Amino acid sequence: MPPLTASVSLRSCPLCAKQKLNPFSRHSHAGTDLRYVICRTCGLVLLSPRFSEADLARFYQEEYRKMYCGDANPTRRNVLEQQARAGHLSNLVKSKITTLTSHLDIGCSAGELLLAVRSSYREIPGFRSVGIEPSDAHRTWCAQTGLAVYSSIQDYQSRCSDRFDLVTLSHVLEHLPEPLKFLRELRSTTISERGLLLVEVPNLFGHKSFEIAHCFCFFEKTLSDMLTAAGFKIVFSKLHSIPHGNMAGPLYITVLAAAESTEKGPFKASPVWWRTVQFKRLMWTTRIKLTQFHKITRRFGRFLKRLAKA
Ligand SMILES: [Zn+2]
Repeated sequence: MPPLTASVSLRSCPLCAKQKLNPFSRHSHAGTDLRYVICRTCGLVLLSPRFSEADLARFYQEEYRKMYCGDANPTRRNVLEQQARAGHLSNLVKSKITTLTSHLDIGCSAGELLLAVRSSYREIPGFRSVGIEPSDAHRTWCAQTGLAVYSSIQDYQSRCSDRFDLVTLSHVLEHLPEPLKFLRELRSTTISERGLLLVEVPNLFGHKSFEIAHCFCFFEKTLSDMLTAAGFKIVFSKLHSIPHGNMAGPLYITVLAAAESTEKGPFKASPVWWRTVQFKRLMWTTRIKLTQFHKITRRFGRFLKRLAKA
């Protein structure tokens, strides 16, 4: 597949609609030039120009799994990582929700989170687990463990209109070209009246973030603003690095949000001093470089000691 070309420029912020997008960071990933901008009003960081919807669909169908996991099929390493993440998220869900009768995991991959949540609520009769996963290979894998997994939400909703008590989006939101529209539709068509949404995304101040598959790079405020704008109320938020080690700041943000019962008026983002966001990101990059430099000097020191002994 030829390198993707980012060609669709955004004129206004997809969250607050203000036309104040400034350059933030420029990177190259997999031979593709990536330019991220920041909204000077609300602080949202996003890819612009970005890929066309046709290019994105082609990328996820042909290239994404091979690029990120080394194989189009589930790999042992990836499944083990997913199991560790699923254990953490399902424990969190269990600690916050006593009774749950249905769970939808969007972007369920090999189905580990569906299995972990189902296991946590195994005493509930008729507990319903459903997954959404566009990869044919991963859906086949899930089918082998007895999970019901569909290729898209539309595919599921064309066969069934039941809503869900819990919807999870683990490492999905940052990949979507229209996350606000997606969340609003989720709230109005998929989550039950008192349902909860669990979202986990990489943290801009702890994760390298700038990757070909990331249309958006969130930090706590912008994730919270995005969910509020979509009609959700944050009930729990956590910064952490599970299941990976903490290099120089929490890698991930996990949020549990409740679907509001009534539609809210137009969203007005609270302003953020965007230079602060740039400064915090620069501080994190510097810490990472110092950590790497420290590791290299320690290795070099050990090499010199071995040389002296020889
Ligand atoms: Zn904005």
